[in-house]
Amino acid sequence: MTTEILVRDVRPAAIPVRDILPFAIWFGLLCLLAIYFVGAEQGAYVHELVHDGRHLLGFPCH
Ligand SMILES: [Zn+2]
Repeated sequence: MTTEILVRDVRPAAIPVRDILPFAIWFGLLCLLAIYFVGAEQGAYVHELVHDGRHLLGFPCH
């Protein structure tokens, strides 16, 4: 009895930049919003919520 092993040339499918672009822009905007809230937002509730992240990233705080 023989065992055959089929080795196929498996490569990941290429994803065109045009398909990724809207998601990349959306993710970038979310990141900018997060940086704003961590770095610049001075509202009492949000400030307390992201306070540790603020110190972790080295933003001036208090
Ligand atoms: Zn602080």
